[in-house]
Amino acid sequence: MDFGEKETFRGLNRASQSQRQTGSAIKPLAVLVPGINEKIFTGATIYDDEKKTFEDGYAPGNNSGYLGKITVRRALESSQNVPFVEMMEEITPKKAISYLEKMGITSLTENDEGLPLALGGLDNGITPLEMAAAYATIANDGIYIEPTFYSSIVDNTGKTVLKKKQEKRTVFSEQVAYVLKKLLQEPVDGNNGTATYCSISGIDVVAKTGTTDDNYDKWLCGFTPYYTAVTWFGFDQNETIYYNNQNPAGIMWANVMRSIHDGFTGARFYQPNKISVEEICSDTGEIARSGCTNTYVEYFLEGTEPEECTQHSGSRVNAHIDTDEETSVYVDNKEDLELDPDDEEDVKTDDIENTTVQNEVIENTEDTENIVNDEIPEDVTNPENDIYEPSTGGGEDNTENGSGNNENSNEETVDNVEDTENTEGITEESPAA
Ligand SMILES: [Zn+2]
Repeated sequence: MDFGEKETFRGLNRASQSQRQTGSAIKPLAVLVPGINEKIFTGATIYDDEKKTFEDGYAPGNNSGYLGKITVRRALESSQNVPFVEMMEEITPKKAISYLEKMGITSLTENDEGLPLALGGLDNGITPLEMAAAYATIANDGIYIEPTFYSSIVDNTGKTVLKKKQEKRTVFSEQVAYVLKKLLQEPVDGNNGTATYCSISGIDVVAKTGTTDDNYDKWLCGFTPYYTAVTWFGFDQNETIYYNNQNPAGIMWANVMRSIHDGFTGARFYQPNKISVEEICSDTGEIARSGCTNTYVEYFLEGTEPEECTQHSGSRVNAHIDTDEETSVYVDNKEDLELDPDDEEDVKTDDIENTTVQNEVIENTEDTENIVNDEIPEDVTNPENDIYEPSTGGGEDNTENGSGNNENSNEETVDNVEDTENTEGITEESPAA
C-alpha cells in the first residue's frame, strides 16, 4: 500500500490527536478489566444473549444474531453486544470509567457514564495512542506505563540533558492480567473469532476488533508477549469504510505484527501462580462432569472457580490442556492478508450494531499504528514449555528494563544534574545561623 510522501510538517498526528469512536475495541478495557478484577464475573459466567431493552430504552442489537445463554468467553469471541451491556450494568459505568482512566484514557466525559460505554459509544472518542497504552496495561501484567517517544537526550559530550520519566502505576494484578490475556486470545483462536487472521504461528496473540456505526472506524487492538499494537483505519471526516467484508485496520495489524515478529522465538503468555485451570461445561458455565457434552478450558483467579455442573451428571472432569506447542519460528503466509476492495457486493461486518453499508470508493485512507510497549518482560515465557529464552536476567521487577526501544541509562545522571542546580540555589540562601 502506498501512502505517498510526507507533505505536512507538524500536521495532524492521528495516533496521538485523533479521538475516535472505538466500537467494540473498548469491550476488554471497559468491561472485562473491571469485571474480572472486581470478581463480578469470570470467563465462564453465563449471560443471556437475547433481544433486550435496557434502561432509558437502550436496545443494542447484535450483528450476527442472538446466541442465547453463553459464557463471557463466547460472548467475547464473536463480540456479542447484549451480554457486554449486561456485564456493564453489573459493573456500573462509573466504575468502568475509573478503570479506563487508570489505564490512561483521558478523553471521557460525564456523557460517557452510561451503558453504551460498554460498546464504545463515546462522547469524544479515544486516541489510538491511549488505546494502545491501555491494552499494554494488560500486556504488562497490570502495570500502566505512560507512552513516550523518547527515553533520553544527550549532548555532544555524552551528558544527559533530558530524560523521560514515564509514569507507571499498577492497575490490577498479574493474575488478573493473565486471565484477561487468556480470554482475549479467543477472538484469534476461537472457531467463531473475529480476528482469526491475526494469529502468528508459535506466538500467543491477543486481538480485538472494533467497528463503529456506519463503518466509520475500524480498529484492531492487540498484543503478543513481545509487542502491543493498535491500528485504526478511517477518515478524518466520517465516511463509510468499505472493504469487502474485511477490516483494513486488522489486515494492517496482522501484516505489521507478523513482519516484526519474523524470526522471533515462539512465546506464550507466562502463567503466574494462583491461577486455576478448569474444564467447563459450556451449557452451564460450571465445572464439567463426565456427562457434559460441550466443554472447554477456562482460566480463573484462584477462588473464583464455579461449582460442578448442576445440569449433567458424572464425575468431575479435569482440564484438558493442549500441550502441542509450536516452538519453531513461524512461516509467514500473507496470501490471506491482502486487502481486497474490489468486490462491492459481499459486505457484512464483524461486530457492529448497525449494518448499513454504502458503496464507497476509498480514495485516501488514513491509518494509524502505534506500538507502545515493546518491552519484553522476562516472564513472557511459560517455563514449562521452554520455548523462549529471556535475554534479560532474573529479577521479578524487570519490566522497566525490557530490551525494547529504550536505552535506560541510569537516572542518576539526570538526578545529578538537578541536584547540582539545586545545590547552588541552596548555597545562596543558606541561613547564617
Ligand atoms: Zn454440564
